[in-house]
Amino acid sequence: MTRPANDSPLEVNCPQCAKPVPWLPASTYRPFCSKRCQQLDLGAWADESHRISGESAMDEADIETLLAQADRDAPLS
Ligand SMILES: [Zn+2]
Repeated sequence: MTRPANDSPLEVNCPQCAKPVPWLPASTYRPFCSKRCQQLDLGAWADESHRISGESAMDEADIETLLAQADRDAPLS
């Protein structure tokens, strides 16, 4: 049996964007290429307003703002 060259690790295609992802421990989100793709596939897009950002730390502040607004907007009963 002949094996392909061993230098390149096994690769899988990201289920989200089809980008090749090396199947290595370092590929934390395999088979996804990134956390973003993983979350998209998991359906996290449903609450992306407070889950997906990846680049800013604004998310929690946004939630607090939204909650505060919801509190204010809610009719007092
Ligand atoms: Zn991807």
